[in-house]
Amino acid sequence: MIPLVYHASYSQLALPPNHRFPVSKYQHLRDHLLSSGIAQPAQFFNPTPIDKSDLLTSHSSDYVEGFLCNQLSPAMMRRIGFPWSEQLCVRTLHAVAGTRLTVQLALQHGVSLHLSGGYHHAHQTFGSGFCIFNDLIIAARAAIDSGQVERVLILDCDVHQGDGTAALGATFDDIVTCSFHAARNFPARKQRSDYDIEFQDGCSDSEYLATLRDVARYLIRLHQPDLILYDAGVDIHQDDDLGYLSITTAGIYQRDALILSLARDAQIPVAAVIGGGYSKNPDALTDRHSQLFIAANHIYG
Ligand SMILES: [Zn+2]
Repeated sequence: MIPLVYHASYSQLALPPNHRFPVSKYQHLRDHLLSSGIAQPAQFFNPTPIDKSDLLTSHSSDYVEGFLCNQLSPAMMRRIGFPWSEQLCVRTLHAVAGTRLTVQLALQHGVSLHLSGGYHHAHQTFGSGFCIFNDLIIAARAAIDSGQVERVLILDCDVHQGDGTAALGATFDDIVTCSFHAARNFPARKQRSDYDIEFQDGCSDSEYLATLRDVARYLIRLHQPDLILYDAGVDIHQDDDLGYLSITTAGIYQRDALILSLARDAQIPVAAVIGGGYSKNPDALTDRHSQLFIAANHIYG
């Protein structure tokens, strides 16, 4: 049984009309996985909110307190991209905890998937691009600091560079960061990950997958991580509203199956988060995010 992590708060966020963040996608994905038989109810685990002390492993206390108490400046909230609300706090604390729980379940079961996560634009002292706290780094630190693992490899395949993950990861020798992203996409000013792989506009399935296969294989052999954190963002899709690559839905499935099979073959636990994905068509977006779960069933079934 592949453990899945979800919380109802993920999609409980009132946003201004025409806001481009597809906040309903989490609930749609959960409903689709269950109604289509891709997942069963018994697979689901629910996180409890993360403790402030866990946030402080990766973020400054001024920033954490400022966000939780609605004391951030309007400019800082604009950079995050959401208006502040109690709902946003609840959702954020559950989503970050969800990635940490996904890591814990992956260490127990070999694989676990989070129906949220991938807040890779969150930096130590500020948030950005719909990301408030960096769940990937926080979850990696929790696993390392508890003595469960020594080295974590973060493979970030969202179309946007994981700039917050890169900057935070650079301060920790035991976290190796690799971002695969579109060169032209946000953020304009990129940070330096341990490894950055840039793709040009219109990159096709075959080019993308060949590069990903070579690099991921190499990094797993070189660093021999005890845990892989995989950001399976689907904004690499050819019809994504925010991405510039030309990856098909079949290509997304092959990417997810590739990363999961590399982890399985190397006997390294893998915790995956769904990451970004932007479309006004909820069914299309759900189908793209579902590929991760279908692939996991095939690889680990
Ligand atoms: Zn993205």
